[in-house]
Amino acid sequence: MTHFSSLSLIDPLVRALEAEGYTKPTPIQQQAIPYLLQGRDLLGFAQTGTGKTAAFSLPILQRMSNLPKKRKPNAIRALILAPTRELAAQIADSFKAYGQYLELTTLAIFGGVGRGKQITDLANGIDILVATPGRFLDLANENHIVLKDLEFFVLDEADQMFDMGFIHDLRKIVKMIPTKRQTLLFSATMPTDIANLANTILDNPIKVEVTPIATTAEKIDQRVIFVEQQNKNALLK
Ligand code: AMP
Repeated sequence: MTHFSSLSLIDPLVRALEAEGYTKPTPIQQQAIPYLLQGRDLLGFAQTGTGKTAAFSLPILQRMSNLPKKRKPNAIRALILAPTRELAAQIADSFKAYGQYLELTTLAIFGGVGRGKQITDLANGIDILVATPGRFLDLANENHIVLKDLEFFVLDEADQMFDMGFIHDLRKIVKMIPTKRQTLLFSATMPTDIANLANTILDNPIKVEVTPIATTAEKIDQRVIFVEQQNKNALLK
């Protein structure tokens, strides 16, 4: 059995996972975490229920914590985009839970609620910002979010974002962020539009595909299709 300790996660993260009651990594966590810790981009075919949130948040937390940076006004280090406010709030809660023993800050912003508190919360800078595309653009366009130092960019449930008409917003956001960054895209399906976007924003990504965690042993049919990196040098990036 693979344990979290075999994934080279730092002690504060392992302790947080213990506190959450996780005993072993899910297949997407096993496959993705070692490569994400090395800075690789990732294309994940995975839906909710696979443990994908921990698969991307643990390496981001670890890489940030290993390279602490002083917070600057309104600046963010990681941007996670999600289609709905519920998902954005849930992802932010996961970052807070897994990062409970680290000194990093996480904020969720989304529409349908007042902007005032979100603007105040952004003022001193935030390490991890989880956002829905509309509210993100709204606040970024007014310079409440500074993207110059962005290091990590995650698009979660990309197919749902497309279904909800966020494609233009996504394209605008991609143009606003630095090109030198680690990028992850998760989607349960891969229609042409998403494949095109993935090609544009990902650099030599590892590709991981999994089916959701089943509740009983008989139902478990998890697959990991792991595509070797074409360019071994990319590992050393
Ligand atoms: P997600 O697919 O990220 O939405 O996660 C689905 C659920 O699985 C969430 O409730 C997580 O808290 C839980 N989870 C994620 N990873 C693990 C793990 N390694 N062991 C047990 N539960 C997990």
